[in-house]
Amino acid sequence: MRSSSSLAIALVLAAFASTASTASAQSPAAPGRLSVRWEELTAADFRDAIARAQGTCLLPFGIMEKHGPHLPLGNDLLNVRYASLNAAQQEFAVVFPEYYFGQIFEARHEPGTVAYSRGLQLQMLQETADEMARNGCKKIIIVNGHGGNTSLLPYFAQSQLELPHDYVVYVQGLARSAPGEPQHKSNRATDQHAGESETSVSMIARPDLVHLDRAPQESGADQARLKLPEGLYTGIWWYARYPNHYAGEGAVASRELGEFETKTWINAIVASIRAVKADQESLRLQNEFYEKSKHPLNTPQ
Ligand SMILES: [Zn+2]
Repeated sequence: MRSSSSLAIALVLAAFASTASTASAQSPAAPGRLSVRWEELTAADFRDAIARAQGTCLLPFGIMEKHGPHLPLGNDLLNVRYASLNAAQQEFAVVFPEYYFGQIFEARHEPGTVAYSRGLQLQMLQETADEMARNGCKKIIIVNGHGGNTSLLPYFAQSQLELPHDYVVYVQGLARSAPGEPQHKSNRATDQHAGESETSVSMIARPDLVHLDRAPQESGADQARLKLPEGLYTGIWWYARYPNHYAGEGAVASRELGEFETKTWINAIVASIRAVKADQESLRLQNEFYEKSKHPLNTPQ
């Protein structure tokens, strides 16, 4: 695992290097302009930033795991932060620092994977959300950058109904495909982890870390080693299909596809920030629900 300081430096450099490559990107905070990055704000500026963001904050959620033979371990973290930071610069929101404490047990057999325990994942996320809210982030958008989190994050959001909270958790799923997309060169059904699509986005977010020439060194083919009926789930399914922790063909990635998918993703996050700022109903309904939950026998039947 890289040290957090070198990772932070890498991310800062990435943001500087990459701003020119996406049409929607803006320059890093100029003097007098509030940064969208939590860790770059002074305490006084943080207070102003929360007000300007109307209490809306992003928690870009990455992971540390192998990404085929050609992409960096922090690929999802780097990409989700690139998309989130660009989106927050278009529609102001405060962006939480690097976060990668998610679900990745299925890659524990590969070097460099950091897989925290089940309980800690949920506790860390709850305490992070609590701390964000205590600092004024009453609307938290978790921006997911990792496919292995797609069950964890809705579960986390559902579990917010267990106890009263004075804030709302929203989950922004991966959203890179859209109509009008450039032609894909590989089979879209198996283009998943470190495949054409994801590698193309990495070529925009951190082109310096993409080793396209190494992509064919391992197979990302579906090995289909389990034969179970549709709708019957088991945790080893991913390893059964993709034991190299690589799904698809990264070698056919292109900047053209990357530009399109990155822009689509940024636009989706911008739209979510706007919708969340306008949303006054979720918190009101949550409060109504929490109140009623204290007296279920009084709920009209
Ligand atoms: Zn990934």
